[in-house]
Amino acid sequence: MATGHLSIDLSALADNWQALNRLSGGKAAAVVKANGYGLGAGRIAKALAAEGVSEFFVAVAEEATALRATLGPDPVINVFSGHMAGDGQIIADLNLTPLLNSPEQIARHKATLPDHPFGIQLDTGMNRLGIEAADFTADMADGATLVMSHLACADEPDHPANDAQLKTFQNMTAGLNTRRSLAATGGTLLGKDYHFDLTRPGIGLYGGAPFDAAKPVVTLTLPVIQTRDVAPGETVGYGCGWTTSTPAKIATVSAGYADGLIRAMSDKATLFAGDTPCPLAGRVSMDLLTVDVSHLESVPDSLTLLGPQQSVDTLAEAAGTIGYEILTSLGGRYARSNA
Ligand SMILES: *Cc1c(COP(=O)(O)O)cnc(C)c1O
Repeated sequence: MATGHLSIDLSALADNWQALNRLSGGKAAAVVKANGYGLGAGRIAKALAAEGVSEFFVAVAEEATALRATLGPDPVINVFSGHMAGDGQIIADLNLTPLLNSPEQIARHKATLPDHPFGIQLDTGMNRLGIEAADFTADMADGATLVMSHLACADEPDHPANDAQLKTFQNMTAGLNTRRSLAATGGTLLGKDYHFDLTRPGIGLYGGAPFDAAKPVVTLTLPVIQTRDVAPGETVGYGCGWTTSTPAKIATVSAGYADGLIRAMSDKATLFAGDTPCPLAGRVSMDLLTVDVSHLESVPDSLTLLGPQQSVDTLAEAAGTIGYEILTSLGGRYARSNA
């Protein structure tokens, strides 16, 4: 079999949620948007529900179809994008809780589904999604199950925007008799002023920064299809992008940018033979990587790209991106299994 193998450690996921839940004072929900950050919303949600998670968040209503089927009727599924035109049916059928983002969405929700649960999303300075202070009145939150907002700079603990958004959120929600939520993973780590009634960790559950204590959840091993000797002066890959001045050995590995290993990793990422680093040699192709294994005594059947040797954030840094993008880009060709 030439497909790579993506192994998802559900006990590490569970431990990460438990740790973030403890840090939150027992108030953690779970964000499983983008197919559970690329790992499979069904398997992720099932494992988290078994840990006692009773409230989930997705980005768009359609993401909740598989989730509701997995979770059954009881857990709350909140939808960040709120209630868009045409969403009434799916919100009702799947019993979703839209987080209404504008006076227009509030009007739509009340007209379409007058007795159906909803939450309110406030914009406290990120200028991305939610009702702004100038447009918000307390009566909009009457009957809401949750009032929430989102921090722009929570991964930088000293950034002044954190405190500014906290104060704006406190002011906008003062006197409301509704559950409140401000923190995602980064905000959870900022301390209890940010926790309110519910925290919404995503990336930390999946082993990513800024939750430095996270256990790695993903292991990605890629089969070596072929190994060849390359003589001094020969080149490797598209654009003849890599060359060697000494005799070298190149392993050709099965996975490429069609599997989410973005081209920006070319010449920069590192794979591992056990604990021994092996640098990418030349450009990432659609389905293949070429790796310098000259220093290995024997070439293993597969090389590891993600695992205990290398986190999603380390790989992301090599490619000039963030762990979130590495995870959510992981492609559909890998054989996936729970560990
Ligand atoms: C994605 C998202 C989260 C989760 O963020 P992480 O940084 O992955 O923990 C929480 N709240 C909102 C509004 C989001 O968009």
